[in-house]
Amino acid sequence: MLWQPALPDRYYAMSDEDLAQAIAARREQLGDILLILGHHYQQDEVIQHADLTGDSLKLSRLAAEEASKRGTKYIVFCGVHFMAETADLLTDDAVAVILPDLSAGCPMADMAEYDDVVEAWESIHAVLGNDWNGRVIPIAYVNSSAAVKAFVGEHGGACCTSSNATEIFGWALAGGERPAGNNEQIKVLFLPDQHLGRNTASRFGLITEVDGAAGRGPSDIAVWDPRLEGGGIREQQIRSATILLWAGHCTVHMRFCPEHVDQVRREYAETGGITVIVHPECRKEVVDRADDVGSTEYIISRVEQAEPGTNWAVGTEVHLINRLAKRAARRGVNVRLLGDCLCLCAMMYRINPQHLLWTLDNLAHRKVVNRIQVPPEVKHHARLALERMLSHTGQTPSELILAR
Ligand code: SF4
Repeated sequence: MLWQPALPDRYYAMSDEDLAQAIAARREQLGDILLILGHHYQQDEVIQHADLTGDSLKLSRLAAEEASKRGTKYIVFCGVHFMAETADLLTDDAVAVILPDLSAGCPMADMAEYDDVVEAWESIHAVLGNDWNGRVIPIAYVNSSAAVKAFVGEHGGACCTSSNATEIFGWALAGGERPAGNNEQIKVLFLPDQHLGRNTASRFGLITEVDGAAGRGPSDIAVWDPRLEGGGIREQQIRSATILLWAGHCTVHMRFCPEHVDQVRREYAETGGITVIVHPECRKEVVDRADDVGSTEYIISRVEQAEPGTNWAVGTEVHLINRLAKRAARRGVNVRLLGDCLCLCAMMYRINPQHLLWTLDNLAHRKVVNRIQVPPEVKHHARLALERMLSHTGQTPSELILAR
């Protein structure tokens, strides 16, 4: 986590209304040179000031397009650290990407540190040996640091999002950039979210996690835990598994339990039933019990198209659910949180109106604070991993506005 200096006391002495007015005034003053991005999981007091809202990759891509159209100089990303890095990867170098609170890091992304990834890669290959006829193709969920994305890009892998993970897994299992040769064994190293990895692997029939068996039989998946000696798995597991998952997780989506699904179904059994929809960062036991699973954007579109009179229980971040519920109620659709867990992204919550105003006050004086810059030597390979993802999901690299 990066260190964020304390703000002057005056920001905390302001009322919510005064903060909102001051932010609006600064936006007006800065005009088109400023673009504020708000991730779906942000609190209302912040997202009301966003020019664009969305999930992390969508926001970065939209921002790249908008910034070049408007002549934007500053992008203020109301999200977490890896999102600001992604925006920096996708925008022109002349655009400064700013994170209002430097301590807003994603716990899941932080679970895959670059040095640990390098160590795991070397250990896995040492176990597989020089005689092994195969390749390990790494896939990095976009919720990862730029350094990890770069590692993946440099080693023939690609990024993925929660909406295209299945396509990218298919691409990797077929050999990635180079189709698998005769008898060549392909393994996937997926990081950092073991749950998205497990949920996606199950779509390919890869579900078992018992050790001791070979090939795609009873030992499809092994989990590498960087906190444990040798990843906490036996060499035989590394040899037999097709999918090697990193032991990372989202601290928000992990909170949902299978019992929450059972409970909500019981509650609505007499009143027309309820549709349970969850994010694929939830545990597989939860996803298996749900009616539907999909990315944040998918969940939003499903709920927005729901028939009046229907009930929906949603397993994702609470700020988004509350906004969805308010909008849906106007159409007679009942939307509620799945379970009674505290599923708030505490890191996203660090971006508050005080930090947003402080950032804008500095920009008004042409002072850039909290700029997030991916080092040039990291950019090339991190972009390569993103480009591969786009070119293998029906999009072209030219859709990305990359500064070269
Ligand atoms: S919701 Fe989960 S994955 Fe997203 S920023 Fe928070 S901890 Fe990270």
